[in-house]
Amino acid sequence: MKYPFNKPFLTGKEIEYIVQAVESGKISGDGRFTKLCHSFFEERFGFRKVMLTTSCSDALEMCAILLDFKPGDEVIIPSFTFVSTANAFALRGAKIVFADSGKGDPNIDPALIESLITPATKAIVLVHYAGIACDMDAIMDIATRHKLHVVEDAAHSIDSYYKGKPLGSFGSLAAFSFHETKNVISGEGGMLVINDEQFIKRAEIIREKGTNRSSFFRGEVDKYNWVDIGSSFLPSEIIAAFLYAQLENLDKIQKRRISLWEQYYEGLKEIADKGFITLPVIPQYATNNGHMFYILCRSQQERQELIDFMKAADILPTFHYLSLHKSPFFEGKHDGRELVNSDSYTDRLLRMPLYYELPDEGVKFITEKMKEFYDSRK
Ligand SMILES: *Cc1c(COP(=O)(O)O)cnc(C)c1O
Repeated sequence: MKYPFNKPFLTGKEIEYIVQAVESGKISGDGRFTKLCHSFFEERFGFRKVMLTTSCSDALEMCAILLDFKPGDEVIIPSFTFVSTANAFALRGAKIVFADSGKGDPNIDPALIESLITPATKAIVLVHYAGIACDMDAIMDIATRHKLHVVEDAAHSIDSYYKGKPLGSFGSLAAFSFHETKNVISGEGGMLVINDEQFIKRAEIIREKGTNRSSFFRGEVDKYNWVDIGSSFLPSEIIAAFLYAQLENLDKIQKRRISLWEQYYEGLKEIADKGFITLPVIPQYATNNGHMFYILCRSQQERQELIDFMKAADILPTFHYLSLHKSPFFEGKHDGRELVNSDSYTDRLLRMPLYYELPDEGVKFITEKMKEFYDSRK
């Protein structure tokens, strides 16, 4: 493919830092590069505490453990999201109550949340889809009134903001991803953000296989022991070294991705104005971090025809999530509510190739091909 959907970008220093990590003689977790990554996030975004994890999925699993989810506890989650957002809570036996997306964007519709709350509800989990903020004032207001925790699945959301405040700093907890399809990468990788102080100590334990190893290394206890449940959630220094090289280039990466996003927007305006496609909307309160450029097609069938047409031109646009309430695993457990917007994004949303090394001419070529496809349509 001349224009694949994604291409991981190497900033240049990844290998150098990995060599440094290996030569330092400490390649397990929480060494120099992990600490550099932690400080970067805490200083730049003001997160109370961050802990690198082996993936965003793992960070979400830590959230479910930290919030003490037990069988029978309920959690409200958008249906239009990645499996891991829900699976982390399913692993603890939680009852998942799927919520619909809004009409205007794929984020959870705050107006629907309150009707889904019951005495068993413990948390609201949200996803800032494409790095575009959910309506946090509305959601935090509901959470506060009902004394619920908010967990932000911020996998798409690095360096994006709601009314000037970084995404990932609203919930009691938040989870980021550094999977190779995200803006900043480490192959596989993620991060837990803890904004609610009360979770910090236990998170350290859960991340270290249920032991108080972190306290031990700080000299606070004289031996380390099994004190809670947990798993091996911390990444090695090799991963952290790779990630740190990326973080040093965050501004450069964001700038390029946002520029590509804007070129798509300009290039596709004409066919959007003619009513063939719908372009993404960035609400006043939100920023765009260039994570993803998506369009909405008029129908699933037209989307497939467009994909086939683009593939023939060596371009690989791809659709995204399939409503989780209709998944083979969950279908039988769903309460039967129709989630029409989630299904509509499932059928009609299409993501364009967007990666650091995509040249301006590439976007031009892709948007011209799109126009060519719609030229023959009514
Ligand atoms: C990518 C992604 C995840 C999973 O991230 P991993 O780091 O691959 O575990 C979870 N939620 C959302 C919304 C994602 O896009």
